[in-house]
Amino acid sequence: MQASAQIGVTGLAVMGRNLARNFARHGYTVALHNRTAARTRALVEEFGDEGSFVPTETAEDFVAALEKPRRLMIMVKAGDATDAVIDEFAPLLESGDMIIDGGNAHFLDTRRREKALRERGIHFVGSGVSGGEEGALHGPAVMPGGSAESYAVLGPMLEAISAKVDGEPCCTHIGTDGAGHFVKMVHNGIEYADMQLIAEAYDLLRHVAGYTPAQIADVFRVWNKGRLNSYLIEITAEILAHTDAGTDKPFVDIVRDAAEQKGTGRWTVQTALDLGSPVTAIAQATFARVASSRTALREAYRPLAGGTEHPLRPHEAERYVATVEHALYASKVIAYDQGWTMIRDAAEEYGWDIDLGNVAAIWRGGCIIRAAFLDRIRAAYNTDATLPSLLSEPEFADEITKAQVPWREVIAAATRRGIPVPAFSSALAYYDTLRAERLPAALIQGQRDFFGAHTYRRTDREGTFHTLWAEPG
Ligand code: NAP
Repeated sequence: MQASAQIGVTGLAVMGRNLARNFARHGYTVALHNRTAARTRALVEEFGDEGSFVPTETAEDFVAALEKPRRLMIMVKAGDATDAVIDEFAPLLESGDMIIDGGNAHFLDTRRREKALRERGIHFVGSGVSGGEEGALHGPAVMPGGSAESYAVLGPMLEAISAKVDGEPCCTHIGTDGAGHFVKMVHNGIEYADMQLIAEAYDLLRHVAGYTPAQIADVFRVWNKGRLNSYLIEITAEILAHTDAGTDKPFVDIVRDAAEQKGTGRWTVQTALDLGSPVTAIAQATFARVASSRTALREAYRPLAGGTEHPLRPHEAERYVATVEHALYASKVIAYDQGWTMIRDAAEEYGWDIDLGNVAAIWRGGCIIRAAFLDRIRAAYNTDATLPSLLSEPEFADEITKAQVPWREVIAAATRRGIPVPAFSSALAYYDTLRAERLPAALIQGQRDFFGAHTYRRTDREGTFHTLWAEPG
């Protein structure tokens, strides 16, 4: 077998197949491999005329087809399958070769794999790939980790196949070892929060304003022309405008209201707890999905008392729409700020040199949370890379200040009516927590000292203190 391929892809299910085609469409010769050879043959039969492919059936032939240093991309089911494939191919590789894992790996697995392969001289690049099946074919957002040396070789190829915004590739070297998969995980966590916030806004317009799904679709279309402009707002309008063919009912009314998940939101929350990153909106969004699926618990709570107020009158509803827009935007800024805070925390913990502005830049295209407002996040971090929070940037601070009254009004009105707004209210609670002069955390320290002699620090003196408490009664 002549070594003629610049890149090889093993794992040719939906993602791998489309990434292989994307590489080929960009002029690269792509070696193909899949555990079940029928998938390899099917790709060449269906799409062989799109570019230059080298189909192979054995691991040895696949590796032999790759130009040196070999670049081999793994697109298999995340978890044990990735380890199995690495174990199969690594012995066939040489020092300087590169393995890219484009699957949805946990960043700690990526750190483990990178370390093990580095010791054998092989570059291991855990890379987040966002945008699903369509993104893989037409241009995903690509978040590679691994060594700077490997990015020097792989960067141009990954940038070529990535989405482009204003001519810029949605791909950048995120940082070493697991940084790419970490950032992809947080992307998905932010996606959970954004989706939940949009869903809460819909619920309020439906049950407080009394709008129909079709009317709400129109509201979202208008919002999509403003500062909320994003892929998620755009598709939400499409979904709300959709009528179920069989029943003629709004589509949203025939879908069971139990949200599922594949687990990256859960990973984000678990990791956030380990890092001490307070990503409350992401956590609430993840728990909201979990709670929606707890049928028996929902049955038990359903008969209990709720709120009281009735829908608004039509002229009040119009004003209310603008109020919800403020609340949604303010909550969204908080959710994104939490995501960036978590990335900064991880960079510190794991020694990653992550350019926070570049993260915003590459999420502007090819991924689910692509949004106009990411341009502003990018600009904020480009102006000051050490910005402690997005709210330290004057424009964001000004917008949040202007949103104060409507944000609080929306949450208060929802609470009075018994409409759940966990993500809206957790975002506001986060804001109020961080801006508070004094927090009741002082009392918690007192409680801890009382029952566990855990000690406390004082406002007026350095050092740790313990009070000799008398037991009550
Ligand atoms: P998938 O359903 O996650 O995995 C199927 C592929 O994995 C097939 O090629 C399968 O080979 C291979 N595979 C499974 N176990 C294996 C093993 N033990 N040894 C060798 N190969 C094995 O495929 P996908 O949806 O295309 O996703 C690929 C990766 O991209 C996953 O890590 C996924 O999490 C990630 N991802 C997916 C999306 C998405 O929207 N689907 C988006 C971003 C990232 P056979 O054909 O032989 O069964």
